[in-house]
Amino acid sequence: VTWLDGRPPSQAIRAETAERAARLRSRGVAPCLAAVLVGDDPASQIYVGSKERACARAGIDSRVLRLPASTTMAQLRDVLDGLAADPAVHGILVQQPLPPQLDTSEVVASVPPAKDVDGLHPWNAGRLARGESGLVPCTPLGVVALLEHYGVPIAGRHVVIVGRSNLVGRPLSLLLLRRDATVTVCHSRTQDLAAVCRSADILVAAVGRPGLITADMARPGAVVVDVGINRTADGVVGDVHPAVAEVAAAISPVPGGVGLLTVAMLLRNTVEAAAACC
Ligand code: NAP
Repeated sequence: VTWLDGRPPSQAIRAETAERAARLRSRGVAPCLAAVLVGDDPASQIYVGSKERACARAGIDSRVLRLPASTTMAQLRDVLDGLAADPAVHGILVQQPLPPQLDTSEVVASVPPAKDVDGLHPWNAGRLARGESGLVPCTPLGVVALLEHYGVPIAGRHVVIVGRSNLVGRPLSLLLLRRDATVTVCHSRTQDLAAVCRSADILVAAVGRPGLITADMARPGAVVVDVGINRTADGVVGDVHPAVAEVAAAISPVPGGVGLLTVAMLLRNTVEAAAACC
C-alpha cells in the first residue's frame, strides 16, 4: 500500500502561502486571521492553538478571541460585526462545535462572505454548488490537494464519499464534481453501505466513527482517504479500519494525512482573502 503522507503537500502549500504573504506584506498588507473560540471544548482549544502556530510560521498575523461558553447570539454577533468592519482582519473563523444556545447557521451567516475563510457562508456554499469561484471549505480543498499531489486521477473516476456534512462531505462532493468525477454521497440512511463503497475507485470516509470502513468495503486497488479524527483510548484514529491497508492501493494516514492539508488550506484561504480585499 502507498501511504498518502500529508506532510509533503502541506509543506509545499505552506511555503507557497508564506511567499504570497511576504509579497503582500511588502505592499503594506499584513494578512490577518481572527479565530473566535466560544467555550472551552478541549479539541477546539487544540485546533485553534495549532492554527495560530501555523499562521505565525507562514507570516500571517492571527488573533484569537476567546468568549465564555455562556455567550449569547447577540454578543457573538457584536464580536463578528466588529471583525467584519475591521480592515486589518482578512479572515474570520468561528471554531465549531458551538454551545447549544448559539445557532450554527446564523453564526455562519454572520461572517461576511469575503472574510469567510472556512467557506461555510451560504453565499460561498452557493457559489461552490453553482461551480463558481469563492472561498471553499479547507478540508475538502485538502482532500483534493492530497489526491492531486500523489497523481491520483479524478476525472471520470467513481468517488464514494461517506458523510454529507456542510463542513466536509457535501462541499467535497461539489469540488470533485467540478473535477469531473462521478460522485456518490453516502450517509447514515444509505442502504448496503458496503456494496456502495466497494464500487468506488476513490473512497473518502468523513463520518467520525472509528473503524467504520472495514476491509470488505474497499475494492482491491482503491484509493482510500480517511478524513475522520476520533480520539480513542488508543490515541487519535480515523474512520478507516487498519486492515483496509491490506486491500487498498493507497490510503491516507490519521494523524498525518488530511488534517495537515486542512491547516495549510486555511492559511491559503486567508492569504487569498487578504489579496482579494487589497
Ligand atoms: P458530522 O457533521 O458529524 O457528519 C458525519 C456524517 O457521517 C453525516 O453525514 C452522517 O450521516 C454520516 N454518518 C454517521 N454515521 C454513519 C454511518 N454509520 N454510516 C454512514 N454514514 C454515517 O461530521 P463532520 O464534521 O463531517 O466530520 C466527520 C469526521 O471528520 C469527524 O471525525 C471529524 O473529526 C473529522 N474532521 C476532520 C478534519 C480534518 O482536518 N482531517 C476536518 C473536519 C472534520 P447523516 O447526515 O445521515 O447524519
